[in-house]
Amino acid sequence: MPSQLLDDLNEPQRQAVVHSGTPLLVVAGAGSGKTRVLTCRIAYLMAERNVAPTEILAITFTNKAANEMKERVAHMVGPKARSMWVSTFHSACVRILRNEAKRLNLKPSFTIYDTQDSVRMLFLVSKDLGIDPKSYSPKYLLGQISNLKNELIDYEDAISKAVTAQEQTVAQAYGEYQRRLMLASAVDFDDLIGHTVALLQAFPDVAEHYHRRFRHVLVDEYQDTNHAQYILIRELVGTGKDGMPPAELCVVGDADQSIYAFRGANIRNIVEFERDYSTAQTVVLEQNYRSTQNILTSANSVIEKNSGRPAKRLWTAEGSGEKIVIYTANDEHHEADFIVTNIADLIDNHGYDYKDVAIFYRTNNQSRSVEEVFIRRGVPYKVVGGTRFYERKEIKDALAYLRAVSNPEDDVSVRRILNTPRRGIGDKAEEAVEGFARREKITFSAALNRLSEIHTLPTRSATALTEFNRLLGNLRTLDESGAGPSAILAAAMEASGYLKELTASKDPQDEVRVENIAELENVTREYEEQFVEDNESGDVATLSNFLERVSLVADSDQIPTGAEHGGVVTLMTLHTAKGLEFPVVFLTGMEDGVFPHQRAFGSATELEEERRLAYVGMTRAMKRLFLSRAVARSTWGQPNYNPESRFLSEIPAELVDRQGEEPSPLGLAGSGSRAPKRDEPVMALEVGDRVLHDKFGMGTVLSVIGQNEKAEATIDFKSAGEKRLLLRYAPVEKL
Ligand code: ATP
Ligand code: MG
Repeated sequence: MPSQLLDDLNEPQRQAVVHSGTPLLVVAGAGSGKTRVLTCRIAYLMAERNVAPTEILAITFTNKAANEMKERVAHMVGPKARSMWVSTFHSACVRILRNEAKRLNLKPSFTIYDTQDSVRMLFLVSKDLGIDPKSYSPKYLLGQISNLKNELIDYEDAISKAVTAQEQTVAQAYGEYQRRLMLASAVDFDDLIGHTVALLQAFPDVAEHYHRRFRHVLVDEYQDTNHAQYILIRELVGTGKDGMPPAELCVVGDADQSIYAFRGANIRNIVEFERDYSTAQTVVLEQNYRSTQNILTSANSVIEKNSGRPAKRLWTAEGSGEKIVIYTANDEHHEADFIVTNIADLIDNHGYDYKDVAIFYRTNNQSRSVEEVFIRRGVPYKVVGGTRFYERKEIKDALAYLRAVSNPEDDVSVRRILNTPRRGIGDKAEEAVEGFARREKITFSAALNRLSEIHTLPTRSATALTEFNRLLGNLRTLDESGAGPSAILAAAMEASGYLKELTASKDPQDEVRVENIAELENVTREYEEQFVEDNESGDVATLSNFLERVSLVADSDQIPTGAEHGGVVTLMTLHTAKGLEFPVVFLTGMEDGVFPHQRAFGSATELEEERRLAYVGMTRAMKRLFLSRAVARSTWGQPNYNPESRFLSEIPAELVDRQGEEPSPLGLAGSGSRAPKRDEPVMALEVGDRVLHDKFGMGTVLSVIGQNEKAEATIDFKSAGEKRLLLRYAPVEKL
């Protein structure tokens, strides 16, 4: 029934739903019902305009959003809604490409490479072309190629346009990479869009087929489309030249919520919609249905500081609601305590459930301190669009190093890190060692000590394995000599080259991984400090008791499912939060340097993108908004003192309830950590030097290899025997 569908809409929303013919743009601030308009429009098309579900193509930003939209439409018009295409750009393109693969000389069963596959492929390409991985890592190359693909620049164009040596190298790698993808009948994520565009442009009959099929194209979150996606939409809509009138296009978005510039999203697509489609009409929505007035006014005051944006009049009938709470915590643990205490209060005294609450943060590693308190206090939670801290690959890798050091019998851990980072130990070599271990009935680690007896090993692998075994040996000596978990972790991450590989990479994913390793180092230091506080006997934390405690925290079986307790609290990054809404929102890490991210300091454009991210975050809240910051936040085990986020001062003071006290930074400094300082010069030793070791006592230097941070000495400690020590971390003094 038309009346029913339109009943729950305001006048401009209704206009947008019933509009027919010309392209339509719905622009409006957060929470004004843009997504709802899109959903109702689809239902209305089917119920009132006799449009078949197969004639509709709707694009959403995530698969989750697609499923939700499909469910809502099905709720309004019945199950036939299930046969329409509601999907992300990528899924829609996969479907088209599977149908038309032959035209592009792809197998219909073509493989889709994920980032890891692509990086591996570029590693091979670089080797083949003799590209120096120190100047151009495979990940850097992939990033550059991806940028080109987002702009629909193919490798031939890239090669002919390349001027600088850098551009030439990238273009060459791009060409070879595409050649190999074709050979493998594989495509990467960006190709999904690019190939579909190429297909529609090169084959008029294919284009006509889809013009005939999709009479309605609808796009949510249009502000975050990149150039390739923009052209894709244009090609799908068509110009009418092939006899099919252009499809009806309806896009909705909000330029203030554009937060994916780093992936090539271009705000011009929404700002210049009317220029791109000359007959376009625009509907502006002004009523917000999501948030209280206080939340809305606060968010608007922040976004208003961005330049060159048209003023918006957004209002709500929800009433002013509670004030925004801004909390200053001493450190990230107090911040987490504050969150848990407030959640308990909201549930016990104000009728909220766990599922009503969301915690947002700027970068993934910030979730760890919150997760730990949640686990300790039994708060059920899930991490969306990311992995729980201890399930992340880099954390598992790092812990595998620690386990392999602590327990040489732990074959699983030893083998996990055998070739991580890549050190030229292939499957064949691993099998040879394994075979030997099986025959001799010894562990894998024990077999590593008898490499010379494994005759099937090629020299190259044998050398790499010897090196690896020596690395483990060094780390074990560090452990035996009483170094704490933080020092062993730091040594493992550096001496293995693991950290170096991540730091050298230009992939933003790897930047996140580095942050997570830093966070794990925080965990080890906190543990050491706590251990000293709890143990009056003067004992210090060892690697093995640290690992024991981690396996308790990391055991996901402990986490309640929460189904019977009103759902679970949701944790996610601000980027993932786009489009969603929650009654209660905690926005954490409101510190200059964290949010806005330090990287944005030098650039007005990036600072504005951070501000849009703040706007997105704040406008997710329906009833209660808590903004928190920590005066000291640890990275690499060192407290950082960041000033409060500039975004906080942009919120009108009269709407804010400030809590927590600003402690003096002096009171917090000084951590009494026993871990080595990273930039301390490394002691130089020579053969014959006499040394005193904290644990092994007096010794004589037998040999030294490497210099500075890499220096390793073999020292004869009479009673304790010969030890090979990484000098950077060893507690030795020269006598
Ligand atoms: P965002 O910019 O964050 O994506 P949006 O503009 O897409 O927000 P919606 O998510 O569609 O906004 O709507 C926000 C909330 O307001 C939803 O809970 C929606 O159901 C509700 N809403 C929208 N329009 C109306 C209306 N006319 N009457 C009642 N509730 C409405
Ligand atoms: Mg929306």
